[in-house]
Amino acid sequence: MTETQVDPIAGRTDEIAASLHVDVEQGLTQQEAARRLETYGANELAGKPPVPLWRRIVEQLNDALVILLLAAAAVSMAAWALEGAQGIPVEALVVVAVVIFNVVIGIFEESKAADAVAALAEMTQAQSVVLRDGQNKLIHAADLVSGDVLILGEGDQVGADARLFKASSLRVAEAALTGESTPVTKSPEPLSGNVAIGDRTNMVFRGTAVTGGAGRAIVTGTGMSTEIGNIATMLDQTEEEDTPLQREIDGVSKLLGRVVIAIALIIMITIAIVQTPESASDWVTILLLGVSLAVAAVPEGLPAILSVVLALGVRRMAERNAVVKKLNSAETLGSASVICTDKTGTLTQNEMTIKEIVTSSGRATLSGVGYAPEGELESSSLAVVEESRALLEAGALANDAQLNNRDGRWEITGDPTDAAFLTAVGKAPGLAEQITKTERLADVPFSSERKMMSTLHRNAEGDVMILAKGAPDVLLEHCSEVLVDGQHVRLDEDRKAGLLSQVEELTAKAYRTLGVAVRASDIPAPEDYDESCERDLVYIGVVGIIDPPRAEAAVAIEEAHRAGIRVVMITGDHPETARRIARDLGIVSDEDDSVMVGHEIEEASEDQLQELARDISVYARVAPEHKLRIVDALQAEGQVVAMTGDGVNDAPALKSADIGIAMGITGTEVTKDAAKMVLGDDNFATIVAAVREGRVIFDNIKKFLRYLLASNMGEVLTMFFGVVLMGVIGLTEAADAAGVHLALPLLATQILWINLVTDTGPALAVGVDPEIGDVMGNSPRSSKDKVIDGAMWRTIMTTGFTMAFVCLLTMDLWLPAGLISGGTDDLTTVRTAVFTTLVFCNLFSVLNARSATLSAFNGIGSNKLLWGAILLGVVLQVAVVEIPFLQEAFGTASLDLAHWGVALGLSSLVLWVEEGRKLLSSRTTR
Ligand code: ATP
Repeated sequence: MTETQVDPIAGRTDEIAASLHVDVEQGLTQQEAARRLETYGANELAGKPPVPLWRRIVEQLNDALVILLLAAAAVSMAAWALEGAQGIPVEALVVVAVVIFNVVIGIFEESKAADAVAALAEMTQAQSVVLRDGQNKLIHAADLVSGDVLILGEGDQVGADARLFKASSLRVAEAALTGESTPVTKSPEPLSGNVAIGDRTNMVFRGTAVTGGAGRAIVTGTGMSTEIGNIATMLDQTEEEDTPLQREIDGVSKLLGRVVIAIALIIMITIAIVQTPESASDWVTILLLGVSLAVAAVPEGLPAILSVVLALGVRRMAERNAVVKKLNSAETLGSASVICTDKTGTLTQNEMTIKEIVTSSGRATLSGVGYAPEGELESSSLAVVEESRALLEAGALANDAQLNNRDGRWEITGDPTDAAFLTAVGKAPGLAEQITKTERLADVPFSSERKMMSTLHRNAEGDVMILAKGAPDVLLEHCSEVLVDGQHVRLDEDRKAGLLSQVEELTAKAYRTLGVAVRASDIPAPEDYDESCERDLVYIGVVGIIDPPRAEAAVAIEEAHRAGIRVVMITGDHPETARRIARDLGIVSDEDDSVMVGHEIEEASEDQLQELARDISVYARVAPEHKLRIVDALQAEGQVVAMTGDGVNDAPALKSADIGIAMGITGTEVTKDAAKMVLGDDNFATIVAAVREGRVIFDNIKKFLRYLLASNMGEVLTMFFGVVLMGVIGLTEAADAAGVHLALPLLATQILWINLVTDTGPALAVGVDPEIGDVMGNSPRSSKDKVIDGAMWRTIMTTGFTMAFVCLLTMDLWLPAGLISGGTDDLTTVRTAVFTTLVFCNLFSVLNARSATLSAFNGIGSNKLLWGAILLGVVLQVAVVEIPFLQEAFGTASLDLAHWGVALGLSSLVLWVEEGRKLLSSRTTR
């Protein structure tokens, strides 16, 4: 970084600016900033160094079973050497080759998941506003350099350590750095002496958050030279926590691991007892067979495949504007049972147009649509027109938005509610020019808690006044008089009630309402202007603003309801406006449309709120802290809650929700940081689309579990029954005839081939399966539901036993002896036929795995990748059976057409049996 010679804490800001060669009014030039970035590096904390390839390979091999397998291969090699090193030690070499193949696949999967995580990190990069070339620019925080002028506002994440040179009511939450939970008020004055971090009130630090006010600061430290950089190594250790699903899958793989190892041991012991091995190589063969079976059938690869499925799903979500920050959240999204959403901008278009103005004297209307200041202010009464002009003028001054015409299009910056006044002013002749002649002296900004804002202005004549606008019910509390026919009249309770009923009339038409008030007497000095000055105002009237619902919102709400998900609207707006929009969008019905308001939430006890939250779907006049209570109440009921937010004060509720969702467009950096998902388009429909994607991901996880576990079950059972029944099916005799001492249904290398080669493609392909059936047709998954449930076990067992039956039948069929006599083949050919049948069984089984209840023929052609994987499986099998050197390696022999035909026909039983089971169970449940 560029070293400043001046102490950033004790120095004067002009000295600091000079030493960093920056003009604080202009900021750095883009060119200079780029040069500094090039020279001093990006504003990043040193992450963990990338794991070298050799370490990743070692990690892949660092599995007890794989080590055992390699050890067995080594023993086999040794036996071959001891026996005179005749020929090639095929078995051992094949084992090593298959292990290498698996390491390659494993590393490929790992890097795919890592790529997805990196892409997400890229999409959710923190941003900062800086002054460069005299212009405000939004840049990636990583591009900040020393000397940059940071522009700070509410909700910003501070991107680097910086010395303030301007601050107005700037408050910064520094808990991330100092642990201090209350925000610190900042000011630019130099500090002397050795000041602890928590007391450096003229500095802002990377990683902290602006909770209110505004400020400007010169960046004095970036990257590892920041305070947080000093402790970054401590923070680095935040690992992603495993989700319940991951834990369950881990648990299942461990349990199955033990079962499979036990069965493998039983098989080895049975062979040893029944077939009494004679030579060392017999023992080695048995050992290799047992270990191969264990390696093949123990599903230790599940967690890895899980990350890949999640990663690919997350990528699909991002394409739909829903950026999930952590892979795990994608799966949680699928189980959301309540979506709590803001109204403005999420359910509505956030395109505000003032349509009506109501004052004590009557009603005026404004024509025109959108932000174009084209239209007429009309009323039958001149008094109303005069009052409306005064109201619009005040509303347009107590305002932080800008309205610009860019190439013929009217565009706004800032709050759309504010912008609506700027548009409306343009519709009242001469008013817009008048406004430009006033000067803003001070303000108290709008916040969701206060629900109002005010400014202190001086007009062309030199008169100073307070102008305020806000939620009418709130604003009236700050008024003591009301404007009636140009006169100030005392605001008694009757009048107040009358004004509020005017407001209700507007809200019943779904208008968003805003009151406007002024005061021209008893004016404070600008430097003393604060909230306490917002009193004794003169109420002018109220505007009715339309903010049309988003066309797609009603459809998305209907879809959410169909999916058993409750939609709860939480808004700062008026209860009636909220109720009306909630009704129009189908969130509540005409019969049951109760609305709970902020102060009722405040008054309710935890238990009461929990009880109420069961039924209430509309909350109005809510402040951000109420959101947290609503989340807690819903979670206490066992709901999985998704909650949207945009402001800095929404962050705690978003953190507490199961899925915090930040608005990508209107959301602050702090909210985005606290959220698990960022909505690129602020649109409610995108949340529902993401939930749908989450459910598809979860379904796909079930699909590959069903597939892999059924396949493994089939292999284990085939081996087990093959060994147990070898006398019955004629295997023993065939072995005798072939002069081999051990009668094995399948060879170790063949078992490895099935699991580690032909199974891999279909498993991955089924993990990215498109939606089958209607994922939004069911209720959300309960957190108590097991992933591998009864239905899944039934599929696994049915398929497993069918596979074993089909394979043993094939064996018996082609062997001369056994139950069905008449076969004429030798042991190698028969084994090849069984091996092929088992591979085909797996390829049929992947079709079953796509649904536990729906026929495999439902959308059978929709997953092209799956068909590719199946085709590849067939090609590989033909290769391993027909190519001479692979025959040597895997102990196979060429098959004739009859073998292939029978293998295909019999293995298809796996499909038919499961189809039958699905048909039966759908009949019984109907
Ligand atoms: P949501 O919470 O669904 O986004 P909202 O925009 O109505 O809805 P807030 O922004 O908290 O919620 O606003 C609450 C109330 O404050 C509004 O109903 C309005 O009456 C008033 N208000 C909103 N914006 C402004 C503003 N810029 N100036 C003055 N008052 C405002």
